[in-house]
Amino acid sequence: MKAETNAQEVLDAGLVPQLPADRMRQTILGRMKTMREEKGYDRVQSLQALYPHTVYERDTLEVLTASLLSGNHVLLLGPPGSGKTTLAKEIWDLFPKEVFAVADCPVHDDPFSLIDPVYAEIVPPCPYCKANHGGLALDELGSFDPERIKAKDIPVQQVRLREGFGHARVQGSPEVFPDNLTGSINLARLEELGDPTSPLVLEPGKVLQAHRGILFVDEVGKLPRGTQNVLLQALQEGIATPAKSRETFPASLIAVTTSNVRDLANITEPLNDRLANVHTPYPETSASNRKIVDIGLRREGGLLHVAGPFRDATVELVMEWRKRMEQTGDLSEVGSNRTLIDIPKRARSYALMSAADRIDPEDFRRGALDAMEGRIRARSEDGFDENRRLVKAFLEKYWRDAAKRGAEDYWCRFFVGELKEDKAEGVRVVQALRQALGTNGHDPQKVQSLLRSEGGDARVRRFGKWVQETEGLDREQVAMALGGVFHALDSLGAFDEA
Ligand SMILES: [Zn+2]
Repeated sequence: MKAETNAQEVLDAGLVPQLPADRMRQTILGRMKTMREEKGYDRVQSLQALYPHTVYERDTLEVLTASLLSGNHVLLLGPPGSGKTTLAKEIWDLFPKEVFAVADCPVHDDPFSLIDPVYAEIVPPCPYCKANHGGLALDELGSFDPERIKAKDIPVQQVRLREGFGHARVQGSPEVFPDNLTGSINLARLEELGDPTSPLVLEPGKVLQAHRGILFVDEVGKLPRGTQNVLLQALQEGIATPAKSRETFPASLIAVTTSNVRDLANITEPLNDRLANVHTPYPETSASNRKIVDIGLRREGGLLHVAGPFRDATVELVMEWRKRMEQTGDLSEVGSNRTLIDIPKRARSYALMSAADRIDPEDFRRGALDAMEGRIRARSEDGFDENRRLVKAFLEKYWRDAAKRGAEDYWCRFFVGELKEDKAEGVRVVQALRQALGTNGHDPQKVQSLLRSEGGDARVRRFGKWVQETEGLDREQVAMALGGVFHALDSLGAFDEA
């Protein structure tokens, strides 16, 4: 169908009216089917593939997806830095963007709102469309009747939903007033034009901007009550009334909201009742946390590679923090996913500053200290100093053991997965690596020759191949990285028992 058309052609093409929730459901089911049939993914894999940039345990993704499939608005509820905002963005990425809209409508109305009596009951058209296409005077808008409209007279455009048109974002704070969500009528403009039904007099707020798509409200509990009530009305009735206007506008949308657990009590009960709560805790397993680190470091080709053992060391350290320390108040950000990604980046920065081609345990310790300290929030100087002492004491006590555990984990995956727990061979591989990489591991050309199938070293090659696959490197990169990986294992103490 043409991009510029009319409502009759939309009907003739066999299209049917769909609410945002219907379109969401259709897309999710379609994607999951494709992944099952074309890639052979199981249920968990296809769920994860719907949200490629976030890592959650299976439970979280299942509850979220089931909520979206049931047509619910959602509240992502979790600690700071647990990836809620990224997840909300992924829901928007998932949402189908191409729609047909009434060509001159200020809130991109669905053509079916004008021509389909049943749909118009659920999602009525805006006052502008009622007046201009329904042939009604201002005081007759209440008697709008889709039966009287000729579909071929309604100009329709294919549009791509985007920010401001089918998508809007609100950052929750006490300064977000009801007008920000509803929008308002520009009285100066009205006086100038003299026509209250002109689309030019409406300044649509976030709720109207999100009509037909997704409204994202970050930290919804921080919105004042009055503003929460506007949101509630939109979710309950699918409408919003701009300030200074007597007319209501359609707001048919999916709301994706987030909150920290500690702000939950600030969300009004009727609003919370409308939101399916999806808990988004930090992932519990090392493997999932390691994935977060990998995703965070993914787009950094060209920089010094952060050797896998340091990534595992980071995971162990942050998980230790989450286990031992409180996750609320001024320290709640310290164990976040952002810290998880920041530690290896900062460790690498220290290595780069000393022009080293590999990261040392001391770089890791300093990087961890910077990343964790940098996320302390405090209401007072005393509180800040006290929290700094806490972080420092924690690191002093636990960093070395946690790092060692991470490195051991890394080696263990090779030992179990590749060497099938052959202890004697394990010792020989370590010897070969020490001999080959202990002194000249920083010379990529030498490493490359060791990795060759002819004239190379079979054991070094075996480990190199495994590292290449595990860390998603190409042949050239692994030659650059292998020395650093061995150094990390060795210096963090992974071979102490061997
Ligand atoms: Zn309209």
